[in-house]
Amino acid sequence: MSTDTANTADVRRPDWITEELLGELVSRVPSSTGASWKLTEVYTGEVLVALPQSSPADVERAAAEGRAAQRKWAATPLPERLAVFKRAHELILRNQHKIADLIQAESGKARRIAFEEVCDPPMVISHYLKRAPKLLKDKVRPGMMPLLSSSIERHPPRGLIGVIAPWNFPFATGLSDAIPALMAGNAVLLKPDNKTALSPLFGISLLEEAGLPKGLFQVVCGEGPDVGPTLMDSVDYAMFTGSTATGRVIGEQAGRNLIGACLELGGKNPMIVLDDADIDETVGGSMFAVFGNTGQICMHIERIYIPEAMYDEFRDKFVAAVESMRIEAAYAFGPDLGALVSPDHLARVQSHVDDAVAKGATVLTGGKARPDIGPTFFEPTILEGTTKEMLHGVTETFGPVVSLHRYSTLEEAIELANDTEYGLNASVWTTNFKRAQAVAARIESGNVNINDGLATAYASKSTPSGGMKQSGVGARHGDQGLLKYTETQNVATLKKQVMGPQGKQSFDDYAKQMQTSLRWMRKLRIR
Ligand code: NAD
Repeated sequence: MSTDTANTADVRRPDWITEELLGELVSRVPSSTGASWKLTEVYTGEVLVALPQSSPADVERAAAEGRAAQRKWAATPLPERLAVFKRAHELILRNQHKIADLIQAESGKARRIAFEEVCDPPMVISHYLKRAPKLLKDKVRPGMMPLLSSSIERHPPRGLIGVIAPWNFPFATGLSDAIPALMAGNAVLLKPDNKTALSPLFGISLLEEAGLPKGLFQVVCGEGPDVGPTLMDSVDYAMFTGSTATGRVIGEQAGRNLIGACLELGGKNPMIVLDDADIDETVGGSMFAVFGNTGQICMHIERIYIPEAMYDEFRDKFVAAVESMRIEAAYAFGPDLGALVSPDHLARVQSHVDDAVAKGATVLTGGKARPDIGPTFFEPTILEGTTKEMLHGVTETFGPVVSLHRYSTLEEAIELANDTEYGLNASVWTTNFKRAQAVAARIESGNVNINDGLATAYASKSTPSGGMKQSGVGARHGDQGLLKYTETQNVATLKKQVMGPQGKQSFDDYAKQMQTSLRWMRKLRIR
C-alpha cells in the first residue's frame, strides 16, 4: 500500500486558515454561557478553534431573529430572491479551493472528494434557479363548478426551517438542503456537527456576500441532545440528515409538535455484479463506490454480490487495485484516500473489522489503523466470509470496509441485496441495460445506480432522492425537494352562490340534478 509522504509532521495547513479567520468564522455562533468545544484539524489532531456552544436560550433567540428576517424575505419578489443565488453560484465556484481547504481541515477527507463536495451546492442552485419559478408560481386549477368556480394552488413558505447536518459532507448538507428552503422564502436555523462547523459557516458568509439578508440564515452549535430538542420546538419543519437512530428521535419530536420532517438516514448498500458485467470496469467503479470519502458516504457500497463464476477474478483484481491506492494526508489532489473523521469513528470501524474476524471472516487486504500517516487513518479493507451474525454484516460500518459474497442465481442475489432493514442505495453492474432496469425494479432501495456506485443518482438533481425502509422519510432534490419547504394553500372562489336547492326547489330535485350533472361532467371529462 503506497503511503508516499506518510508523515503527520509534513502536513502543511494552508496559510490562509489563520487564527483570525477562524475566530471571525465562529463568531457567528451564539453562546451566552461562553461554553466552547475544541474543533480539531483531523490530519494532525491539533486544535484549530474553540467553537462556541449554544444554550437552549441561544437557540430560542436565534430562532426569533431568523423569524424576524423571514417576514421581509418572504415579501421580497422571487426574482430578487433568486438573484442572490445566481451570485452565490459564482462565489462558491470562485472560492472552491478555500472551501475545500476548510472541509479537509475539519473532516480529513481527500482533496478530490472535498472538491466534489464543493460542487454540490452550485448544482442544487442551478437546478432550482430553473425550477423554482414554476414550482412557486400560483397555479389556477379547475374549480368545483365549471365557469362558476375556480381554485388556486399556492405555496407560501413554512417560516423557519431547521436543518440538522452530519459531519460527512458538512458543506453540502449544511448548504444544499438550506438553499431550496431559502429560495422558497423561509429562514433557516442550521445545526452542523461540532466537528465540521467551519465549512458551512464559511458558506453562509458567501451567501451573505451574494446578498442574502443578514439574520436569515442562523447557526447554532452544540451536541445534538443539548440543542436538538429546543431547535425542534422552535422550527416549522425539520430537515435532518444523519443516523437512523437519531432520525427516530427527530421523527418523534416532529410528530409531537405536528410539524413535517424529512429524514435522510443510514444505509447498508449492496452492489450486484451481473454475469454479463465488464469485470475491469466494475472493479474500477467499485473503488469510488466503496472507498469514496474513506467510506463515509451514506450511499457508499458495503456489500458486493458477485456470480460464482466471476468471483475469483473479481476478487483478485479488486484486491490488487485497492493495494495500489495512495493514502496520504495532503491539502492537494493526489491521494485516493483520506482520514476517518475522528478517533471515535476510527474505533467504531476497527471494532467492526475485529468483530468480523473474531467471528470467522477473512481480511483480504487492509484491516488496520495507520497512525504512521495520521491519528485517524485506516487502511482500505476487503473482507470475505462475513455473515449476519457480525456487526459489519448487518449494521452500517461507515468506513473503508466492504465484504465480498458469491451468488449462484440472480434470484438469490436480489434476495440477499434486499435482506436488510435499510434501503438507501444499490448499484447494479451489467452490459445489458434492459436487464439492469428489471433488477432495479426489484431492489428495495430509494436510489439504484446502474454501472455506477452512487454519484449518478445523487447528482441527478431533477429526481427526488431519499431512502426506503429504515433509511428515511421524504426526499431531497426534485420538485419535492423544494415544495416540502412550503405550505399548500387552496384558495377557492365561487362567483355566484349556486350550492344547495335554488329558490323553491326541493332537496329531492336538487339531489337528482346533482346526480345528473355529476354523470355528465364525468362523461364530458369536465371534472
Ligand atoms: P448522527 O445522527 O449522530 O448526527 C447527525 C446530526 O444530528 C449531528 O449534527 C448531530 O449533532 C445531530 N444530533 C445528534 N443527536 C441529536 C438530537 N437528539 N437532536 C438533534 N440533533 C441531534 O449522525 P452522524 O454520525 O453525524 O452521521 C453519519 C450518519 O449519517 C450515517 O448513518 C450516514 O449514513 C448518515 N447520512 C445519511 C445521509 C443521507 O442522505 N441519507 C447523508 C449523510 C449521512
